[in-house]
Amino acid sequence: MKNIISILGSTGSIGTQSLKVIKALGYSVSALTGNRNVELIERQAREFCPGLVAMYDENAARDLRVRLGDTDIKIVSGMDGLTEAAADPAAGTVITAVVGMIGLIPTMAAIREGKRIALANKETLVCAGDLVMEAAEAYGAEILPVDSEHSAIFQCLAGAACEVRRLILTASGGPFRGKSAAQLRGVKKEDALRHPNWSMGAKITIDSATMMNKGLEIIEAMHLFGVPAERIKILVHPQSIVHSAVEYADNSVIAQLGVPDMSLPIQLALTWPERKASPAPTLDLTKAGGLTFEEPDLRVFKCLELAMDVAKAGGLLPAVMNAANEEAVSLFLQDKITFEGIYERVSETLREHRNRPDPGMEDILAVDRGVREKFRQ
Ligand code: NAD
Ligand code: MG
Repeated sequence: MKNIISILGSTGSIGTQSLKVIKALGYSVSALTGNRNVELIERQAREFCPGLVAMYDENAARDLRVRLGDTDIKIVSGMDGLTEAAADPAAGTVITAVVGMIGLIPTMAAIREGKRIALANKETLVCAGDLVMEAAEAYGAEILPVDSEHSAIFQCLAGAACEVRRLILTASGGPFRGKSAAQLRGVKKEDALRHPNWSMGAKITIDSATMMNKGLEIIEAMHLFGVPAERIKILVHPQSIVHSAVEYADNSVIAQLGVPDMSLPIQLALTWPERKASPAPTLDLTKAGGLTFEEPDLRVFKCLELAMDVAKAGGLLPAVMNAANEEAVSLFLQDKITFEGIYERVSETLREHRNRPDPGMEDILAVDRGVREKFRQ
């Protein structure tokens, strides 16, 4: 049953790549979800014949019902629809490929059904990592990381019985690596959206440009692997060939390498512990043209430094930071604030919030709502 898949966010970058992997593996799809892109999801539904499709947007769901009127596919909408797709009894595995904290409630629903979770939606772990990991343990739901760095670390840790000293999380450095703060003043959305190595959704591409993405990934790694922020090192590696590494107590470092292609970690999360032939190109190190590593410039990438502090603080602050970042990135993408404005908005929001340890789900949802309301005023 692991090879029957429900995809939350099938119309996005990870979602569409997941469908290619599923097709190549000969796996099947029981549920798809999207937000508003009816045309694409109609095509996906006709190709993969799921029993259920959820559109978050009510109007899109209505439109889709008409378009798919000649099929038996059940079409649902809103958060209830997304949750129904996550808990779909037909699915053994749920790929969480929606962007943002919106993925939290459906991910919890999938965990409560004991599904294997192929987790791409990092914001969920950033906001509520303790609750998600506890629930996964309680319900026997396996969580397999899809984020390339975390998939790499997962592979480097496989079978390890000895003491891990630290996790080495690599970062491409994004489109603005090597720039000074002055050079970044007034950069346009088009420049920030031009990632050198990866083609991804808009939100994570902006997060890569500010390097907030790497900060979110520190928090993601803390929860997935139970390692504190102090023992996670960020290393800028512009070629994106070494996807991350683990340093052991004996100074031995085990890294995972591959071409920058998300179909690799997506596929591994679906087939693990097996490895199957992949459509991704093979890695030819003689053509990689040298692998280089450098420290991140925290004076320029202030969002990364901010997130490192928040990772150490824990509690409710990661949820505050995440909500502020999602809202600020959205404003930047609408040309309503500058690139530097993202850092300013997020740090200002953090200053307005007092931390508290061990927040429950209600606290997290309430603070998320509060931050977003303040942004929209
Ligand atoms: P994307 O923007 O391309 O796709 C997002 C998906 O979420 C779409 O299917 C969209 O319809 C859906 N969605 C958006 N808002 C929604 C809402 N309000 N309700 C319901 N559905 C909604 O994003 P992406 O690049 O595919 O990223 C998805 C997740 O995976 C993110 O959390 C990202 O950080 C993570 N991730 C992505 C990559 C990558 O290469 N793209 C790599 C690592 C991790
Ligand atoms: Mg990543």
